[in-house]
Amino acid sequence: MDRRQFLKTAAFGSAAATLVARHRTAKANPVRTSARIVIIGAGAAGTALANRLVHRLEGARITLIDPRRDHLYQPGLSLVATGLRPAGYVVSRTTDWLPDGVTLLPERVAAVDAETKTVSTESGETLGYDWLVVAPGLILDHDAIDGFSLDLVGENGIGALYAGPEYAARTWAAANRFTQDGGTALFTRPATEMKCAGAPLKHAFLIDDIARRAGNAGRVNMVYAAPQSTLFGVPIVAEKVRMLFRDRGIGTMMKRTLTAIDAGAKRATFATDTGTEVVDYDYIHVIPPQRAPEFVVQSGLAWADRWTDQGWVEADRQTLHHLRYPEIFALGDVAGVPKGKTAASVKWQVPVVEDHLVAAIEGREGTQTYDGYTSCPLITRIGRAMLVEFDYNNNLVPSFPGVIAPLEELWISWLMKEVALKATYNAMLRGRA
Ligand SMILES: Cc1cc2nc3c(=O)[nH]c(=O)nc-3n(C[C@H](O)[C@H](O)[C@H](O)COP(=O)(O)OP(=O)(O)OC[C@H]3O[C@@H](n4cnc5c(N)ncnc54)[C@H](O)[C@@H]3O)c2cc1C
Repeated sequence: MDRRQFLKTAAFGSAAATLVARHRTAKANPVRTSARIVIIGAGAAGTALANRLVHRLEGARITLIDPRRDHLYQPGLSLVATGLRPAGYVVSRTTDWLPDGVTLLPERVAAVDAETKTVSTESGETLGYDWLVVAPGLILDHDAIDGFSLDLVGENGIGALYAGPEYAARTWAAANRFTQDGGTALFTRPATEMKCAGAPLKHAFLIDDIARRAGNAGRVNMVYAAPQSTLFGVPIVAEKVRMLFRDRGIGTMMKRTLTAIDAGAKRATFATDTGTEVVDYDYIHVIPPQRAPEFVVQSGLAWADRWTDQGWVEADRQTLHHLRYPEIFALGDVAGVPKGKTAASVKWQVPVVEDHLVAAIEGREGTQTYDGYTSCPLITRIGRAMLVEFDYNNNLVPSFPGVIAPLEELWISWLMKEVALKATYNAMLRGRA
């Protein structure tokens, strides 16, 4: 490590320590209560909240409901899908993260009855609650792409890294073949809201970089195809990505929504403003439409007039409180707020829900608010990334002002993604960040 790198690391280390310390000093005395708190989903959000609540409350009965045995560190999937990490890098056991004093019910929630304040599971069990936190993440609707099946991933030039560690590894098998053989690659994203909107861009950038490193820059035709008219929801970031794409020769097909693939013929069909367009590919990366789990809509928890095809939970964008049911909070990817489908957002949402939940138990108003903070380290090549952080108003809100410039491709930002993000994520799961 040279001196410049060392200084950057030192600066980053002290900034990160400050971030953690800020949370440590905020601890309050535990509140005595016999409240029954049910949290649906033991992913990033549910686990982090449970770990914090056990320290804030004494005597509460906290139940986490989740059928998944494994905890998935989803930000690592992008690294698995480019051969930079093995599939096991993202997998741990759900129970390894849970504190004493929390009960895990390994079941899938089928319904919530917000009038009787009960949750029922697919096996027929019913639980009453005083407070409910809805944190089941989101559903990847792969079936919405005609002709696509997860069985196809890894074969015939098909990738789908969002689908989990096994599929991310298979994605790398297909993508790696493409970087050697060349041809046309299509990188798609859905028309719906999605988690970590930077992930499809990262995949395109990294596959391009890997092909270049293999000496095959001249043999690959890289095309990013998206339903939106811009490359990113935050205008200044969209412009930066546009310039990087131009410099790297990555083409774009905007206002194109992937609707079908013909895996045998290696042909993709896109819906356009005027009809359909069929494009031949050698490699395609599929990110399907995303929506809330079915029970959210069926239970009447979703917005009635927004995202009606996606079903996100109707919640106050600042407090994450359900707008019709005062005992219910939304947390994480499922929350119906305009931004925030990242683990970094979860990190800032959890203390807000904790604050309002504990305040409500004490019969007072909470004070903390969530400002839409969303972050996605945007990898642009191996060893370089941009640390893009923004809020509801599309303001850039850098965590390390003066240390990490948000729109520069930096080694330190790459380090954040490669090394620091997982450590911060794990600290968040334990309720310590
Ligand atoms: C490829 C990819 C790259 C990403 N990169 C980044 C990144 O660089 N930075 C970043 O900050 N974020 C990133 N993210 C996003 C981040 O991982 C998510 O935003 C975060 O995990 C959301 O947490 P969550 O708890 O809401 O959902 P999850 O972590 O998905 O957890 C939801 C849990 O709910 C459970 N569940 C679902 N349905 C039910 C039900 N009916 N009953 C009971 N339990 C249920 C599931 O089993 C799961 O355990 C990325 C995500 C992906 C897919």
